[in-house]
Amino acid sequence: MKNSRRQFVKNSALLIPAVRYVNLPAKEGSGKPVVVSTWDSGVIANAAAWPVLLDQGRAIDAVEQAGIAIENDINCCVGLGGNPDRDGYVTLDACIMDDQANCGSVAFLERIKHPVSVARKVMEETPHVMLVGIGAQQFAVEQGFPLEPQTLSPEAEKAYKKWLLDANYEPVINIERTQSKKGKGPYAPARFDDGSFNHDTMGTIALDGGGALSGMCTTSGMGFKMRGRVGDSPIIGSGLFVDNEVGAAVATGQGEEVIRVSGCHLVVELMRNGRTPQEACEQAVERIIKRDREKARSFQVAFIALGKNGSIGAFAVQKGFNYTISNGEIEGQVVDAKSFFG
Ligand code: ASP
Repeated sequence: MKNSRRQFVKNSALLIPAVRYVNLPAKEGSGKPVVVSTWDSGVIANAAAWPVLLDQGRAIDAVEQAGIAIENDINCCVGLGGNPDRDGYVTLDACIMDDQANCGSVAFLERIKHPVSVARKVMEETPHVMLVGIGAQQFAVEQGFPLEPQTLSPEAEKAYKKWLLDANYEPVINIERTQSKKGKGPYAPARFDDGSFNHDTMGTIALDGGGALSGMCTTSGMGFKMRGRVGDSPIIGSGLFVDNEVGAAVATGQGEEVIRVSGCHLVVELMRNGRTPQEACEQAVERIIKRDREKARSFQVAFIALGKNGSIGAFAVQKGFNYTISNGEIEGQVVDAKSFFG
């Protein structure tokens, strides 16, 4: 089976040219690097991405490092420390995209610590864009990623047991709340005292010194979701989009609402049509709210965007969304985003 699968990938590669990723150094001096990440846990992501950019590295390497750092952080909401689905399994989604529209994505991936790096392998080593479920896991193992134990972090286990008490299936996420008083460390805790999260997704977009844009998005998705549910985060055009002529955008929040408007593609297209990153994020959020203003009061969606010239925008449905900027003048600065509903 394994061999025939490998054979299939080889054969398909003959039919569809595989994306060959060429590891070129960034061109020097044509621009000022910038990295922007969703949420205040973006401090962790930016701290991993920024040295790559400072070293004249490529934006694609910087955003992958951001994803790895945040997937390593057991206190964060993404990666194997995240909340499980309603059957008790942690399932991960991630994607990555570079300045040449090369992209890779994994969804419904279990027991693999770094979905962002598997997504990059999909981009580099296969003729495909997206692998899901057991197939994504098999590919990851073939690529040398260890299969981790199928366990929950102590915090996730606590939250799951609590959820099981009434197992209420209410997929409402990202409604911001007052942060836990127990919060310590360089950023506010992703998890509250009762085990719930205030967000589940980390996205990073970056511009390198050579003028190349790239982005990544990684998540454990909505906590206690239906088994098999996939949100916007691994979907190129919804959770992430990069167009090197224009800009890049990444989303967080209720994935279903982002998918309905192809959120990040929409933001980038608005920028192509002359909107600033800020205006583009605002108009994309307004498009989502316009569908059903009353429903929009009960969920969060937020976008961050980065223009080709390094300009930044962010906007959210609800207040409480923040994001983190590093650009040489400021490093790891957390900024509160404006929102539609004050
Ligand atoms: N966008 C993620 C999803 O829908 C969740 C989140 O950002 O909170 O899976």
